[in-house]
Amino acid sequence: MVDVSGKIPYLPERIRGLQRIALNLWWRWNRRARSMLRAIDPVLWSATRHNPVAMLRRVSPGRLAHCASDSEFLAMYDRTIAEFEAALSRTDTWFETTYADADPKRPVAYFCAEFGLHNSIPIYSGGLGVLAGDHCKAASDLGVPLVGVGLLYSKGYFDQKLNLEGWQENSDEVFNPEIMPLVRLTAPGGDLALTSLVTARRPVHIGAWRLQAGRVNLYLLDTNLAENHEEDRQLTYQLYGGGKEHRLKQEWILGVGGVRVLRALGIEPAAWHANEGHASFMMVERLREHLEAGETLEEARHAVRARSIFTTHTPVPAGHDMFSPDDIDAVCSDYWAKGPLDRETFFWLGSHPELDAGRFHMTAAAIRLAARVNGVSKRHQQVTQGLWTSLWPGRDPASLPIGGVTNGVHLPSWMAHRYMELLEGPFGEVWENKHRDPEAWDAALDLDDAEVWRIHLELKKALLKFCREQARVRWIELWKEAAHLVGAGTLLSPEPLTIGFARRFATYKRAHLLFHDEERLRRLLTDPRRPVQLVFSGKAHPADDDAKRVLQHVWRLTRDSRFGGRIAFVEDYELHVAHRLIQGVDVWLNLPRVPMEASGTSGMKAALNCVPQISTLDGWWAEGFNGENGWAIPLSEGTDDEVDAQDHDALFTILERDVVPMYYERDDEAMPRRWICMMKHAMRAAGAHFTTERMVREYAEQCYVPALSGKVEGDDPPPV
Ligand SMILES: *Cc1c(COP(=O)(O)O)cnc(C)c1O
Repeated sequence: MVDVSGKIPYLPERIRGLQRIALNLWWRWNRRARSMLRAIDPVLWSATRHNPVAMLRRVSPGRLAHCASDSEFLAMYDRTIAEFEAALSRTDTWFETTYADADPKRPVAYFCAEFGLHNSIPIYSGGLGVLAGDHCKAASDLGVPLVGVGLLYSKGYFDQKLNLEGWQENSDEVFNPEIMPLVRLTAPGGDLALTSLVTARRPVHIGAWRLQAGRVNLYLLDTNLAENHEEDRQLTYQLYGGGKEHRLKQEWILGVGGVRVLRALGIEPAAWHANEGHASFMMVERLREHLEAGETLEEARHAVRARSIFTTHTPVPAGHDMFSPDDIDAVCSDYWAKGPLDRETFFWLGSHPELDAGRFHMTAAAIRLAARVNGVSKRHQQVTQGLWTSLWPGRDPASLPIGGVTNGVHLPSWMAHRYMELLEGPFGEVWENKHRDPEAWDAALDLDDAEVWRIHLELKKALLKFCREQARVRWIELWKEAAHLVGAGTLLSPEPLTIGFARRFATYKRAHLLFHDEERLRRLLTDPRRPVQLVFSGKAHPADDDAKRVLQHVWRLTRDSRFGGRIAFVEDYELHVAHRLIQGVDVWLNLPRVPMEASGTSGMKAALNCVPQISTLDGWWAEGFNGENGWAIPLSEGTDDEVDAQDHDALFTILERDVVPMYYERDDEAMPRRWICMMKHAMRAAGAHFTTERMVREYAEQCYVPALSGKVEGDDPPPV
């Protein structure tokens, strides 16, 4: 069914296993595998941004022949192959030993509109996708039987380039499946179409690609097939591109098409997880299946609920997808024309008793069809309960059956090699799967100060070098103009306290707070004895002009000589850039307007690398801040403008009074002891509580295992 022989045309027999390594993203989170791949050709490794398929297609046969006869390389190779085989075939994983009766052939199907697994596969836009990617990797480590379902956006998200006025221009991403670990699946007769559905009265054929992340298979749907109408071929071109109707069609393909593709592949999930409301139609399609099998609506709904899990990520009503009756009629009407699910029931599923009545709310539909619903932090759980109270009229919000599973990040993907090596001291040589005991992380506090500081300074230098190299490449290939170089980080130096601020440029994330008072900012940055640097990165959504204006403002400051070259903007924020930034800055800054940040995860990635955070008490920080691992901007009250003014003042007071003095306080050995203590506390808290290991175990215990058995105790569905 699967032919991969063309991906990597030539490999010497002795190291043919590199093919399997390159085609499974497992290598991404095994540091010995990474070292082995880098050793093949360090220059190409860096030039391809750590893409083994691209590297192996370009590396010279002479170099490969050398590797195949070099005993040092072969030792690394053999060990990697052995670890890889063991990782894929072992039967003593956490899940298998804890839940020995679970049927491994009936997996959890995890649906998401985006997956961020590696920068070479640009089918994600930000936090949601990176979280989904980390979820799959952790599920693989833990042995949780899980398959992912998403869309293959064959033109990606977009590449960010700022013009000479600092305005974000978007260009399609370079997308070449040949150099990605993607494998196209075919139907038994060799057909690319695995299934079909009807949207807007036209049949749309759907194909799929498989992407492997350790033990987890991801199935990515694709409508770009010759038998489809030209318009329908474009449905899976771009993530979050196009208008409302286009988006509705994409979600229809993800949900309805996703279920049908799994059926066509013979995969029979026993539990179904919709990660965000984009995937709600997956539950609607299963409801239709049950009705078609002759069940009553009541029976069918109960059966779907018992096996469904829904995670919501959006704390503001306007952020939830909803569609007008006209759009729904245009895209979905064939569904009820054929029965058995009638139009009235369909609309009832997505109805909201108060908000924009008449529209189809994806979140409401998911809440009606999943017995297990959760937000992504403790604070977000409360916000979500408040948001959906009207589905359970007269109930106290805190009593609603909506849980909270706080997000995490995949430790082996985000922690720098060097810290992982340092932790071999307390944890032993192979410790990636042994760090699940929160108390084990007290060991972080005993790490040697000088070692921690040395590693940190190396990572900081690596960040500055990365900024310069990225500026050089973009100057040659994209900018042509020298003017861009000033603001791209080429003037940054290794000594100053360096603050990182990188995330989507959504206005609620309030990058603008930093330049509310430019004179105060100038004084902070250009203090001759205790200078401070700011490094920004992030994309604005292509349709969000307000966010683009904030970005443009940042861009202007980067080349305003009053700030002395101490502000930089790194273009095209993606996973590779994110790794450099979270590992290389001194402090991570996060300024969401409370309670708009459901969780936030970049601060967790930074903390795993001993980088403390300053943040408002929102999302994960409301439970993660412990007084020793960073700083909290206290909650403030009033209108948006008043809150902004108070938070701005609190932020600068914290910087001037606490952060800068502590960073520059050095002892006889030129070591900032109090600062290093804070760094170690940051790592300890993140390692103990904010990893996807912890998160996926919670999903397994609270949601997957009960759903896999099809049982639901005390089901409490919305009455309206
Ligand atoms: C982690 C990550 C995000 C999400 O960060 P937040 O703190 O949740 O905003 C977005 N983009 C990339 C590339 C990331 O790695």
